[in-house]
Amino acid sequence: MADCVCLPSCIFFNDKMENMPAMAQMYKTKYCLEDSSRCARHMVFDKKGKDFVPKDLFPNQIERAKEIMK
Ligand code: SF4
Repeated sequence: MADCVCLPSCIFFNDKMENMPAMAQMYKTKYCLEDSSRCARHMVFDKKGKDFVPKDLFPNQIERAKEIMK
C-alpha cells in the first residue's frame, strides 16, 4: 500500500497533536503507511475537505469521523 497523500502535512503523522496516544507508532504504520482509507482523519479530509478535520481527531476515531461526515 502507498503512503497517505496527507503525510507531509498531517499533524498526527508529524507528532504535532496534543496527547499523542501510546499506540501512535502502530497507527502510523497501520494507517499512514499501509491503508489511509481506514483512517478517520483521512476519511473526513476526503469527504469534506481539509478544513473539516478536527485538530484532535485520531486515526482510529472512525465513529467520530462518521458523525462529522453526516
Ligand atoms: S493516514 Fe490519517 S493520520 Fe496518517 S497521514 Fe493520512 S490523514 Fe494523517
